[in-house]
Amino acid sequence: MNFTGFNVTNDDTGIVIELEMPQRLSKYFFARLYAKGKMNDEAAGDPEAVWRVLGKRYRDVPLVAPLQVHGTNIIEADKDNSLPLRPEADGVLVTEHSSAFASLRFADCAPVVIAGISEKPWLYLLHSGFKGTLQNIAAAALAEAEQRNRLFNKGNIWAWICPAIGAECYSRRKDDPSAVKASNAFSAENVFEEDEYFRFDLKGEIASQISAFGVPKDNIYTFDCCTSCCRDYFYSYRAGDAEKRIFLLAGMPKTKS
Ligand SMILES: [Zn+2]
Repeated sequence: MNFTGFNVTNDDTGIVIELEMPQRLSKYFFARLYAKGKMNDEAAGDPEAVWRVLGKRYRDVPLVAPLQVHGTNIIEADKDNSLPLRPEADGVLVTEHSSAFASLRFADCAPVVIAGISEKPWLYLLHSGFKGTLQNIAAAALAEAEQRNRLFNKGNIWAWICPAIGAECYSRRKDDPSAVKASNAFSAENVFEEDEYFRFDLKGEIASQISAFGVPKDNIYTFDCCTSCCRDYFYSYRAGDAEKRIFLLAGMPKTKS
């Protein structure tokens, strides 16, 4: 199983998916998704438990691991926000000033990474589930990047949409007001009607949102795999994983511990 922009490997923690960056970005950032495996099985969604295992491999750099609340708040990868603190947020920004690594956790919601180079490099980790996608957290991050960077260039932006639940496994009842809202807000190709349900393609909609902002389509990579169908690789809340989560980690390798 592999997709352009990603490289599936594994180590003693379990399955690890590298986000492959163009050289202009890779000299600043790394981003990798720790998917199904022993480490995340045992951590049961607790980022402190993950960092007790992984932290040693990353020189025990402080880790930002927000409490995800399905909103659009974005915090900085700063040691003042780091564990054991759990500020509420669904996005983390990494820049050259970051004093911590960034992380988020997922089981069906889409992990999204958007990074670019303006006068300075920047990278956002985002949690875009149904609610986050409906609120368009991807565009919120891009708008923030545009505001923060004077020499903003949409051609120098890349995005990775990581594994999330697929439309074939993700339905919401038509009498759910948020489903009606999404059926109007999402691009038509990402909404399917079936009896009393709507089905939503979250990954497709996030790609549409990022592309609508002006990021080149060729720079948007999707790991087009459903978390509920690929249980050997991922956890799925809808398929019964109440606590276990995949773990998205990113940072600047030169960050001091
Ligand atoms: Zn599926």
